[in-house]
Amino acid sequence: MRQHKLEEVDFSGVLFVVVFHVLTIVGVFVVGSSLYLVGLGFLSYSIRVWVITAGYHRYFAHRSYQTSRAFQFIIGLLGTLAVERGPLWWATMHRLHHRYADQEQDVHSPFQDGLLWAYIGWMHSKNNCATTDYSKVKDFSNYPELRWLNRFYLIPPLVVGILLLILCSQAVFVWVVLVGTVIQWHTLFFSNTACHIFGSRRFNTNDTSRNNLLCAIILMGEGWHNNHHYYARSARQGFYWWEVDVSYYSIKLLEKLGIVWNVREIPRHILARGLRSAATGSVGDLSINASHNRSDV
Ligand SMILES: [Zn+2]
Ligand SMILES: [Zn+2]
Repeated sequence: MRQHKLEEVDFSGVLFVVVFHVLTIVGVFVVGSSLYLVGLGFLSYSIRVWVITAGYHRYFAHRSYQTSRAFQFIIGLLGTLAVERGPLWWATMHRLHHRYADQEQDVHSPFQDGLLWAYIGWMHSKNNCATTDYSKVKDFSNYPELRWLNRFYLIPPLVVGILLLILCSQAVFVWVVLVGTVIQWHTLFFSNTACHIFGSRRFNTNDTSRNNLLCAIILMGEGWHNNHHYYARSARQGFYWWEVDVSYYSIKLLEKLGIVWNVREIPRHILARGLRSAATGSVGDLSINASHNRSDV
């Protein structure tokens, strides 16, 4: 297992996260709760999860559909509200995860780094968060507006937070900005690790990815992780009708509305292969030493 040293940790980022959590807990204690506030918190959570899964992940990291430059910017802008850094940084980290899944260069492997590092530590490693390697996202890095978002990713959530404080109540601020962010953080961090530890395997990928129904439900389809590692190019991670994938349904809706196009689907032979391995029980071993999976981006 890889050992991480304290010097590697960006403590300003850790402090930010700790203060954010303390403010959230104190905030909820002060403003209380109601069905209305919980509903707003859930809505805030849902928007952020959606834009991370359908936007940061399936668009910026995997280019699984195409869209206009304007809507691309909107996705990037909304994505910053999740406070998971900028779209180009997120895409580079995720592409590394696919390229080197569960190998030494993987940025968040529970088998290389241990649970705590894979869960949250990797996001606050100076090696990972200091800069964005634009050579890993050449397909997007020549858009100046995306580079701006990537650099000043904290400005949009700050503006939204201040506006909510001015225009709405403190209670709305606490539930929409603080609670929504914290819950969304933990569900996404949880899925990064859980989908490599818990669940079933349909495809023989060269990593430990697993299909996990719980993650698929709470993260709008992101739990079909073994499917996704096997064929990452597709906008669809739930390969079959019974594998719920809300992000994919929403992308198809956007396609019908003409907002996105060229949505990448799963080739028939891969769907058939998945059904065969399910029928025969011939899912793969968990070797993590082999070379890359069949598709990164
Ligand atoms: Zn993975
Ligand atoms: Zn991915």
